[in-house]
Amino acid sequence: MNPQSPAGGASAPGRDISTDVAVIGGGIIGHGIAWEARQSGRSVVIIDDAPGTGASWAAAGMLAPVSELHYQEEELLELMLHSSGLWPAFAAGLEGQEADSSRSDSGYLTASTLAVGADAADRRALADLRSVQQASGLTVEALTVREARGREPLLSPGISCAFDIPADHQVDPRRLLARIAEALAGSAVRERAAGLLWEDGRVTGVSLAGGGTINAGETIVANGLGAGALGGLPAGLKLPLRPVYGDILRLRVPAYLQPLVTSTVRGLVHGVPVYIVPRQDGTVVIGATQREDALSDEGTAGAGTAGAGPETAGLEHGTPAHAAISAGGVYQLLRDAQVLVPAVAELELLEATARARPGTPDNAPLLGRVSDAGTGRHIGRDIEGLIIATGFFRHGVLLTPAAASICRQLMDGDADPRWAAFRPDRFSNLSAATATPATPVGTVTIDPNKETA
Ligand SMILES: Cc1cc2nc3c(=O)[nH]c(=O)nc-3n(C[C@H](O)[C@H](O)[C@H](O)COP(=O)(O)OP(=O)(O)OC[C@H]3O[C@@H](n4cnc5c(N)ncnc54)[C@H](O)[C@@H]3O)c2cc1C
Repeated sequence: MNPQSPAGGASAPGRDISTDVAVIGGGIIGHGIAWEARQSGRSVVIIDDAPGTGASWAAAGMLAPVSELHYQEEELLELMLHSSGLWPAFAAGLEGQEADSSRSDSGYLTASTLAVGADAADRRALADLRSVQQASGLTVEALTVREARGREPLLSPGISCAFDIPADHQVDPRRLLARIAEALAGSAVRERAAGLLWEDGRVTGVSLAGGGTINAGETIVANGLGAGALGGLPAGLKLPLRPVYGDILRLRVPAYLQPLVTSTVRGLVHGVPVYIVPRQDGTVVIGATQREDALSDEGTAGAGTAGAGPETAGLEHGTPAHAAISAGGVYQLLRDAQVLVPAVAELELLEATARARPGTPDNAPLLGRVSDAGTGRHIGRDIEGLIIATGFFRHGVLLTPAAASICRQLMDGDADPRWAAFRPDRFSNLSAATATPATPVGTVTIDPNKETA
């Protein structure tokens, strides 16, 4: 179970590595899965030429199964609640301490969330949502504006309503990712994956764009929006991912306004959602817009992060996760946040960032193994050695512990049938013999069986 592990956190071009688990993609999902795999005693590598710079770099880190409830997404709610329940142990495991301490390495905080409305229509909308939340057995308590302002004195006296949501918490995704990367020191391969390697109908690892291979017992495809572009994907498998862009801001709160708010404030302002998330370092995050246009016809040149950004947030990276920042989006966020907390006008704007969420047609992740029916080989069995974990859309941070534990169960041969609804092949007609083989990339070894599909 413990073949050669990479050392030094980078692979030389052309080098071959063997490991139990190869994770393609070093976002929050890839890191969470790698961490869990390592906890299970497996050796792990994470392959990413720019780890942590995708959607995970922008995420606000709200762990909000209750606030994120949407109509007709019952299965997703179950997964979100499951993951929310895993968060305390996941955070504690990373930090080696009590997870609900007031300060943690990953910025994990269990303070409840406040939902507030600006006008009478917002009050009605939030009250309607509360009825749906309560019908699903979720706890949402109405507060008077006076009670809400007793907890958060800088809230505007003009808000129309307030609700306490005790189960919605938060983490700081950048700190979380850094903490996991530190715990997995030596596992990073700073390269781009070109595609999957195959042998006798099973996936046996990853070919690297710069040359070289990673031979692995299990390969996890966790590279967000880049998943569909990998070479050697199973024949007929459709990964219907689409970028859903979001602008988000980070601001410094001056000492005389500290703390601006103590809990996450999620607002509805004349029908438009906005949130303010306090960080342990005295900054706040204000987010986030949701738009499906990339703004710029010229790709991502000059786009991505204004202000502080990751050294590796190269604009040449070329993934659709990196996006132009919308001026209208920034205006809207600042305008609406000030309606809820007027003192936002006195903060120092540190950073504006835009990234793309990996969206799917049903807003749920593509998570699990894939049927080999499209290969024409065994019909009806899952392809060995391959797990897909992408399409986490608005909930990737919340769902990280669930994704990690589901992948571990799959690797242990102990799949939980509750999560079959998220199979990554649910949009593919894999029984169709007409399935088109994916295009090979680089040095990918294509399984000859898939050509028959
Ligand atoms: C503005 C905004 C706010 C958000 N707020 C929240 C929130 O409050 N709570 C929440 O739960 N979620 C939130 N999300 C959603 C969350 O950020 C995503 O669901 C999550 O980050 C997805 O993680 P990921 O690891 O799958 O993808 P990513 O973070 O995009 O990581 C994918 C990685 O794959 C790498 N990659 C791509 N192609 C290759 C390749 N061929 N080889 C190697 N590596 C490759 C990239 O470099 C990248 O590092 C937010 C998203 C946005 C944009």
